[in-house]
Amino acid sequence: MTSRKPLIAGNWKLHNTVDESRALAVAIAAHVRGKSACDVVLAPVATSLTTVKRAIDGSVVGLSAQNTHWEDSGAWTGELSPALLVDVGCGYCIIGHSERRQFFGETDAGVRKKIAALLVHKVVPILCVGESLEQREAGKTLDVVLGQVEAATEGLDAVALAPLVVAYEPIWAIGTGLTAKAEDAQDVHRAIRGHLAELKGKSWADSVRILYGGSVKPDNADELLGQPDVDGALVGGASLSADNFIPIIDAGVRRAES
Ligand code: PEP
Repeated sequence: MTSRKPLIAGNWKLHNTVDESRALAVAIAAHVRGKSACDVVLAPVATSLTTVKRAIDGSVVGLSAQNTHWEDSGAWTGELSPALLVDVGCGYCIIGHSERRQFFGETDAGVRKKIAALLVHKVVPILCVGESLEQREAGKTLDVVLGQVEAATEGLDAVALAPLVVAYEPIWAIGTGLTAKAEDAQDVHRAIRGHLAELKGKSWADSVRILYGGSVKPDNADELLGQPDVDGALVGGASLSADNFIPIIDAGVRRAES
């Protein structure tokens, strides 16, 4: 269907002790061992990064942080940096999640600085964008989402941005059990890709993986991942149990094979 390799990422948010994280990572790594058609990434809480890294070592599962600062070091109490993420083996970092934008004052300007810093350290940013219910009902979905994408990539060219992953996550679908209809998700994904092409060139835009996030579950994953511009999923709640996350990974493998 496409040369873009599907990516299924689990965002564990503020869940799981070190022992729980280890057990979940071991179960997922055992399932994907030897399979490489679909990229799989786990984003545990920061205190479990090292343990999860050990648990997935030797498998194709990648490690992600849930946030970073843009500076490498300094007087930034409570923060993590791209350099430190590399130090513990992170290949990915979620940036601009709506929970950070909503509850921690994350701005488009901060998101852009974090993306630039991650790229310098060769950590793949997973840039989250998405509209609120109010914005959707006001017909502003594309204005909001394309504006966030544009602000996050401003001043960075296609070469620097090569590894970027975008996650379209309508805020009203996160953790609510509501999911965008597959065709509606496809429309937004296509618009994001089209806008990236206008901004930075078509060949790069065609290579960018655009994930869908928002109550992805085993029973809706195939339909969402069957859309031409839906290259994977960013999964919250359903990534907290291997029984739910593994069937979503399998839907990613089916997309790769279709
Ligand atoms: C998320 O937080 O990125 C997310 C998509 O959560 P959920 O799958 O629980 O809606």
